[in-house]
Amino acid sequence: DVPDVPIGDDLKSPPLAGPNVMNIILVAAECAPWSKTGGLGDVAGALPKALAKRGHRVMVVAPRYGNYAELHDTGIRKRYMVNGQDMEVHYFQTYIDGVDFVFIENSMFQNLGSNIYSGNRTDILRRMVLFCKAAIEVPWHVPCGGICYGDGNLVFIANDWHTALLPVYLKAYYHEHGLMQYARSVLVIHNIAHQGRGPVDDFSYTDLPPQYLNLFKMYDPIGGEHFNIFAAGLKSAYRIITVSHGYAWELKTTEGGQGLHNIINEHDWKLTGIVNGIDKTEWNPESDIHLTSDNYTNYSLQTLHTHKPQCKAALQHELGLPIRADIPVIAFIGRLDNQKGVDLIGEAIPWMMDQDVQVVMLGTGRPELENMLRGMEARYRDRVRGWVGFSVKMAHRITAGADVLLMPSRFEPCGLNQLYAMSYGTVPVVHGVGGLKDTVEPFDPYRETGLGWVFERAETGRLIEAVGNCLLTYREYKESWVGIQRRGMMKDLSWENAACQYEEVLVAAKYQW
Ligand code: ADP
Repeated sequence: DVPDVPIGDDLKSPPLAGPNVMNIILVAAECAPWSKTGGLGDVAGALPKALAKRGHRVMVVAPRYGNYAELHDTGIRKRYMVNGQDMEVHYFQTYIDGVDFVFIENSMFQNLGSNIYSGNRTDILRRMVLFCKAAIEVPWHVPCGGICYGDGNLVFIANDWHTALLPVYLKAYYHEHGLMQYARSVLVIHNIAHQGRGPVDDFSYTDLPPQYLNLFKMYDPIGGEHFNIFAAGLKSAYRIITVSHGYAWELKTTEGGQGLHNIINEHDWKLTGIVNGIDKTEWNPESDIHLTSDNYTNYSLQTLHTHKPQCKAALQHELGLPIRADIPVIAFIGRLDNQKGVDLIGEAIPWMMDQDVQVVMLGTGRPELENMLRGMEARYRDRVRGWVGFSVKMAHRITAGADVLLMPSRFEPCGLNQLYAMSYGTVPVVHGVGGLKDTVEPFDPYRETGLGWVFERAETGRLIEAVGNCLLTYREYKESWVGIQRRGMMKDLSWENAACQYEEVLVAAKYQW
């Protein structure tokens, strides 16, 4: 029964009341805007706010990698053993948009520079062991708004292999000793490609009793017997979430599960796919702060036809490309990695250069792909920009100024850029995998439905074919094009929707023994 209370238009179902209001602690290795290398950081920054809006008491725990201005030192210090070494952590804190953010400080996090995942395998492992041990006791030690969360009615949301030790520690150190009896853990798979693998000896870093070793032991034909943190986390968590339905399905296949498919199949009953939302305070063409200077402009559905072209001209000007309204601007933004299919774009470039288009690419990552971007720009200076770097401002400006966004990812658990693009009236052309398949409904010219172009195999020929159809519509069928843009901008991509689905899983975990 829906209670008779006024609710915000943006909420898909009313906020919870009564026993299902929970204390939720999301624990992640990165959290935007403080630290972010990809989608995980965005999720950690945004999902908690949407859960808090639904009436829960919500906290995020992340490492303190830098001297973040907004934080205050709680003065609380705790010590934890990591591989026989006694280490001290300090807890910092702030409260923003209804969410408590707690940051854990230790010199291991502070000295990393710009790459938060730098260091060798055992360095990263030691950092994550300390982080998980310290994070799990935050509800005991760190008062928020004067009162600690405590361990009753508590659900931890751990994320990816970095924090997959948390569900294991919760059982081994606490539940098995009669502690935190009502606390539950949910593990979210943002990307199965990184698993925290190492030789079996790495088990000693976890400081767990020997009977836990089997949780971590995995075997595959290439690596042989090895230690795998993600495997242990998946087995120990009460529920598993992944970031789209498509990826939930792919994880169960030999190719998609990347060695963990058997475990995921065994635990299928506790797996749910939930597509990420987007943070409308960050990514909204009407209020985007990166569009308020340098001739860019904010825009909405109403001003799409005049103001988006102004952003396109501003982008062309900023990048030193010829300012032409009629030429389609095709963009790519993302990590330069085999996953993202950037090489397919490289192979398609000679064809694209015959189509009278401009191409703008922004990314960092593998040196050979960074060189590919530089090389393309050098060769086609009048039509291509290959910006090697991580620039949030440019990501926003490109999303606003481009006409088309390419995502030829070989696999893509959720993908955020296609969601940002659609909400900015920029039309995605994507490989139909994982979250891309879930979110980009193919354009149907007969029914005038759909949001972009979707191709079925990660091959250059398929990409070219899809871009060709996209460009034909852009040039010859303006009304259809505007229809695609408008449908994208109107689609509900908010976190409110995803938060309702998370809540269902968290409630299920809470009642699970
Ligand atoms: P992944 O998590 O696999 O990297 P997602 O599409 O889920 O991919 O999220 C990537 C996020 O990182 C997006 O917010 C995207 O805009 C941002 N991003 C990636 N590369 C860059 C870059 N070079 N500059 C700015 N932002 C970037």
